[in-house]
Amino acid sequence: MTTPPFPTVVHMLAVGAAAAPDREALRCGGESLSYRDYAACVAGFAGELTVAVGPDVAQSRIAVVMANSIDTAVAIYAVAATGAQLVPLNPAYTAHELEPILSDADPALIVFDVALEGMLREVAARIGVERLIAIGPDKRLTAWHGSGRALDSFPDPDNLGLLQYTGGTTGRSKGVNLTHRAVATNVAQRDALLPSEDGERILAVTPLYHSYAMAMGLHLASHCRGTLVLLPRYHPKDVLDLIARERITLFSGSPTLFTGLMGHADFAATDFSSLKLCFSGASALPVETLRRWEEATGCGICEGYGQTEAGPVLTYNPRHGVRKAGSVGTVLPWTEVQIVDVETGTKVLPVGETGEVRARGPQIMSGYRNRPEETATALRDGWLYTGDIGAFDEDGYLFIRDRKKDMAIVGGFNVYPREIEEVLCAHPAIAEAAVVAVADLYRGEALHAYVTLKDNAGADADSLLDFLKERLTKYKVPARIVITDAIPKTSVGKIDKVALRAVAQAK
Ligand code: AMP
Repeated sequence: MTTPPFPTVVHMLAVGAAAAPDREALRCGGESLSYRDYAACVAGFAGELTVAVGPDVAQSRIAVVMANSIDTAVAIYAVAATGAQLVPLNPAYTAHELEPILSDADPALIVFDVALEGMLREVAARIGVERLIAIGPDKRLTAWHGSGRALDSFPDPDNLGLLQYTGGTTGRSKGVNLTHRAVATNVAQRDALLPSEDGERILAVTPLYHSYAMAMGLHLASHCRGTLVLLPRYHPKDVLDLIARERITLFSGSPTLFTGLMGHADFAATDFSSLKLCFSGASALPVETLRRWEEATGCGICEGYGQTEAGPVLTYNPRHGVRKAGSVGTVLPWTEVQIVDVETGTKVLPVGETGEVRARGPQIMSGYRNRPEETATALRDGWLYTGDIGAFDEDGYLFIRDRKKDMAIVGGFNVYPREIEEVLCAHPAIAEAAVVAVADLYRGEALHAYVTLKDNAGADADSLLDFLKERLTKYKVPARIVITDAIPKTSVGKIDKVALRAVAQAK
């Protein structure tokens, strides 16, 4: 590998801060923080968290529920510096979505955006979490700016450092346990295929609580002592403006983002001359999108593949080397990826044959929190079974073909139809509900919900949509709700999703 891995990302930030103290580390709106101050603020808030939680902080979990900002980057590193396990959560989640996750994570403390205060205090009271820190204009994590505090407390690399929630096939989120070392090792593994250059300017548009943005934005930036430009809320025009104004060199996006930007009126006039490379991950990048983007901007896209359970990166198209359109690239160093038969998962298939992707390496999860059975299914004989279906070509490039599990990816976010079905079924007028994903040019996949009503019950699609919007974050709300007399069933009376998908796709 080009760079040996750091034991933890906190070591990585401390070394970066000592090497380039005056360089701009974070930028958001009109605000910015140098590496010296980044480290000082992380050290300062880590100290506060340690006092708040007490001497057992390194054995605890601390949740962070915040939208992208300088404070969020500081909070994420500060939790790591205490030695605690970070639980990053989506600030757009409703109380209905957050409560079971927080209850499973059992955090000692929750750090959150002050805008969420009312909802979070209620949830915290219900699950018995007493320590809360609201971040906002009255409490900024940039307060240690200029204090010169040194980042001199480091976690034990082999302790759990990250608890990242990802949707389960049951519709309930599962917490993925990763050690501090696994996270830091994956940064170096990724850098071997995509070597970042000293002082890159990186734009983070996707939310930092997700494994993709954390790896390809937050940690990538401190690894190369670059500047991370943060955008609190996605709007295509702001992204285009920032790429030009901030002279962005690395842009990490998802297929939906690339499509959205290309569809914006300002796209053609945007100055992309600073861009050296773009990354795509999270879902399959259509070859046509890749071609159109590269032709219009003059900047290549390297597509990669991974999952939260894999810490998260497994493969990437190399920065210096052959990039293959439609492929997710070659396997990272220190990582083995095999294709095995879908039925037993034990027969390794030859080049060109399609089967389930399994992987092993130092970045793989330790297991799911509180879920021994699901852990035993995902981790078998030292291999992580990804649930994805793919094949290698003769040059060692992986192609992802499909997903084994019943999961949709809407605009880069994983959605489990079952979760939405369960919410719909809780509606007093609904008898039965089925949700399927159909191909969608813009979002990759879009959800269509089919429901039957109880006898004499009155409800229309708009009121059902409102019901879902109150309970689910935006990307999980179906694009379409159809009230029907009957949902297709198989001969044994189960909902026939294959038939339903065909109906939905034909609309
Ligand atoms: P997450 O755990 O949220 O990162 O989601 C991981 C899943 O996203 C993987 O198991 C794949 O199904 C899918 N995925 C990620 N990257 C790609 C890609 N480049 N092409 C196709 N599917 C992908």
